[in-house]
Amino acid sequence: MAGTLAGRYPDRTRTFRILFSHCDLHHPQHCPELVLVDLLNFPALMPASRKRFDLNRHVAKLLQCRRCPRMQSTPVSGGAIVSDVMLIGQAPGPREPVLRRPFAHTAGKTLFHWFEEFCGMNEAAVRSTIYFAAVCRCFPGKNSSGGDRVPARDEIRNCSSWMGKEIAILRPHLIIPVGRLAILQFVDCGKLEKVIGRKFRVERAGHHFDVIPLPHPSGASPWHKIAPGKRLLERALKLIARHPAMKDLAGR
Ligand code: SF4
Repeated sequence: MAGTLAGRYPDRTRTFRILFSHCDLHHPQHCPELVLVDLLNFPALMPASRKRFDLNRHVAKLLQCRRCPRMQSTPVSGGAIVSDVMLIGQAPGPREPVLRRPFAHTAGKTLFHWFEEFCGMNEAAVRSTIYFAAVCRCFPGKNSSGGDRVPARDEIRNCSSWMGKEIAILRPHLIIPVGRLAILQFVDCGKLEKVIGRKFRVERAGHHFDVIPLPHPSGASPWHKIAPGKRLLERALKLIARHPAMKDLAGR
């Protein structure tokens, strides 16, 4: 194994040897191949395995996060789905932490209906092929009017590092932010009419990807059910369905 890698990557042989000199060769279980690949940082070597390893580790850490004392639940995750497509929600409602998955209630029903109608993917297909993230991963609690509290700036800032890390690991081709708060993390969104139905090219930490925003599917706002929202939503969903990253998912 050592000779094979050193032969294929002569420019990295020194790193490789130093690494092995630190391993206890009498106890090879202390030097597993996965750790070796991770330390050498070979992006060309088993990239899918590397992403899966990093994402599994990332999600395990995310689930332990307790940075925001005002949040009313522990983090909700859709699981470590390695994908070229990320869907970004706003924050879970009260049901999602109990059901332990994002978009688990009424808004999710509408969202998955949209994907089924325009992309031909049912809920199970969407959940198993798209990485679900959110602006905040914990339920913020209720506001004084009984609606879900909008996360505060410090909470959004706290949680942004999780999304940044996910983009760095997955290097997605397409990001679908759902709802104004999620859209605002990527493009200016004074009015939904200005951004729904359009595709944007966005850069984060040197990585470029497409952003196609969707309105929030909750019943709290009728925007997506009446003109011009209804027409713009259809245009956005057609853009998503035609995107090469989505077509690749459908062919999995
Ligand atoms: S909202 Fe985000 S940063 Fe805050 S505790 Fe939950 S996971 Fe952590």
